[in-house]
Amino acid sequence: MQQAERMSRLGTETAFAVGAQAAEWASKGNKVYPFHLGDMNIITPENIRNATIKAMNDGKTGYCPNAGIPELRKTLAKDVGEARGVEYSMENVAIQPGGKPVIGKFLNVVLNPGEEALYPNPGYPIYESMIEFLGGIAKPYSYIETDGGFELDMDQLESQITGKTTVLIYNNYQNPMGAESSSDEMKYLAELAVKHDLWVLSDEAYFEIRYSAESESIVKYPGMYERTVILYTFAKKFAMTGWRLGAAVGPEDIISSIAKINTNDESCTNHFNQYAAIEALTGDQSGPERILGILKERRDAAVEMLNDIDGIICHKPETTFYLFPNATKAMEKMGFNTLAEFQEAALKNTGVSFCTRNHFGRPLPGETQKYLRFAYSGIDTEDIREGMAKFKEWIEG
Ligand code: PMP
Repeated sequence: MQQAERMSRLGTETAFAVGAQAAEWASKGNKVYPFHLGDMNIITPENIRNATIKAMNDGKTGYCPNAGIPELRKTLAKDVGEARGVEYSMENVAIQPGGKPVIGKFLNVVLNPGEEALYPNPGYPIYESMIEFLGGIAKPYSYIETDGGFELDMDQLESQITGKTTVLIYNNYQNPMGAESSSDEMKYLAELAVKHDLWVLSDEAYFEIRYSAESESIVKYPGMYERTVILYTFAKKFAMTGWRLGAAVGPEDIISSIAKINTNDESCTNHFNQYAAIEALTGDQSGPERILGILKERRDAAVEMLNDIDGIICHKPETTFYLFPNATKAMEKMGFNTLAEFQEAALKNTGVSFCTRNHFGRPLPGETQKYLRFAYSGIDTEDIREGMAKFKEWIEG
C-alpha cells in the first residue's frame, strides 16, 4: 500500500528530534539545560485560566461559529488594528487553533501548484514544508550578519523573484535569528511586494515579545493592507502555547476562505478557550507584563554569558525569545566540522541542549558561518547561568 505522493513533500520541525535526544539523555539521570524548544515554562496568568473555567461552567461547551465567537473576533480586530495603525473589523478575523495553522491555510487559499513562494531561510521550518506540500516552489531568501544583528539580503531576495512568484512569507520579529527589520527595510520589502503583486503572509508571532521600543507591522505600508494576512497568536504574549489559540487577520475575502477551511478541518477552535482569549486581551495586563520581565532577565543573562565564551559571538535582540550565536571560531578551535556533531557533543559533555541553523530550513549554498539557536523561554535564569558556565568550561577547556 502506498501513501499519497504529496506526503513525500511534507517536512517537519526537526527541532523536536533535538528534544527527543535531550529527553533520552535526561532519562539516563543527566541534568539537561533545555535551550532547544520554543515552548514556555511559565504558567498562563490566573485571570485567563479562570475565564476558561467560568466559560466551561457556563456551558460554552458546544460548537461555535467556524470563524470564532463574534465577541473575540471584534476584540481582536480592535487590538491588532490599533497596535499596527490600521483598521480591522470582525470580518477581518478568523480565529484558529494556534498561529501555526494560518501558514497552511493561507497558502491553500493563495498559492497554486507550480507557483513560487519566497520564505526566510534560516526560518520557521513549516513555511518550506507547507509550500512544497501544496505543490508550490519554495524560494529561500536569506539574511546578512551585521555588527548589531541580522538584516535581509535584499539583492539575494530580489534575485529569487520570477514571473511565477506569487507569495512572500515574512517573519518580522524572526525565529530563529531574533532579527528585526528597520523601517527602511520594511518599506523596501513592501514596495517589492506591491511591484511584483505578491500575497504576503506576515508572521507576527513575536510582535508583542519586545523588550524596548515599539513593534511595527508591514501591513501599514502603502498597498499592503489588501494583500497581507497577519499570523496572530496568543501563545507567546500570554504564555498559552498549549492552549492552541491564534488567528488569521487580513482582507475579508481571504479571511472568509480561511474560515471555510476551518469548517472543513476543525469546524471551530475550542469554544470555551475563546472566552479566555477575550479576558487575555481586555482583562488585567499584569500577567503579560510579568512574562516579558521574566524573559528579559533570561535574555540578559544568556547573552552576557554566551559573549563571555571564547569563539562565540551573540547579538542581543530586542524581540523574540531566541538567540542565534555564531560559534564558527569555537567549533574550529575544538575541531568540529559539523553542527550536528557539535550539538550532540555539547549535550553529552555539558547537558546544554540547543538547536542549530540546520533545524531552520535547508542550508543554502555558500554558507560558511556556523550558527546555534538558543531559546530561553523554557529555562529559568538560574539554570541558564549554570548551563552556560558548563558550556564555557567545555569550550574553553
Ligand atoms: N510562527 C513562528 C515564527 C513561530 O516561532 C511559531 C511558534 N514556535 C509559530 C508561528 C506558531 O505558534 P503557535 O502555533 O504556537 O501559535
